[in-house]
Amino acid sequence: MSDLNPCMTCGACCAYFRVSFYWAEASDGGGLVPAQLTDPVSPFLRCMKGTNSKQPRCTSLEGEIGSKVSCAIYHHRPSPCREFAMSGEKGEENEACNRARRRYGLPPLYKDMLFHTSLDAATSVLTAVQSAAK
Ligand code: SF4
Ligand code: SF4
Repeated sequence: MSDLNPCMTCGACCAYFRVSFYWAEASDGGGLVPAQLTDPVSPFLRCMKGTNSKQPRCTSLEGEIGSKVSCAIYHHRPSPCREFAMSGEKGEENEACNRARRRYGLPPLYKDMLFHTSLDAATSVLTAVQSAAK
C-alpha cells in the first residue's frame, strides 16, 4: 500500500473542470485567491485562469498530470478546490474525481481502498474543483 496521497500523483481534476467560485474569494474582492490568477465568468463569478476552456488546465497546477503535481497557491486556493473530495476519502466514492482521472488514463479510486497519508503529504497535496468546463 502506498503512503502517498493519490492526489499528489494525479492532478486530473485541476485539468478537467471549470473551477468557478464567488468573485469575493478573489484578492480584489477581499479574499485569498490571487486575482491575477482568475478570469471573470459573470458579474458574480470568477474562475481559475486556464480552466474555462475546452481543454482546461489551471495555470496554478504545477507538474505533470498522472506523475507528480502540486498547487502553486495551495493555501490560497478557492473553495471548490478545498471542497472537492478525492474518491474514497472518508469512505465515499466521488464520481467526478474518477471521471477526471479516467480522462487521463488513471484508474478509479474506490471507497474500500485504504490510503495511508502522512500529515506532511496531506498539507502539500492538492484537491480540487467543481463545475464542468464548457
Ligand atoms: S481529487 Fe481525484 S482527480 Fe483530483 S487530484 Fe485527487 S485523485 Fe486526482
Ligand atoms: S487546487 Fe490549485 S491547481 Fe488545482 S484547480 Fe485549484 S487552484 Fe488550480
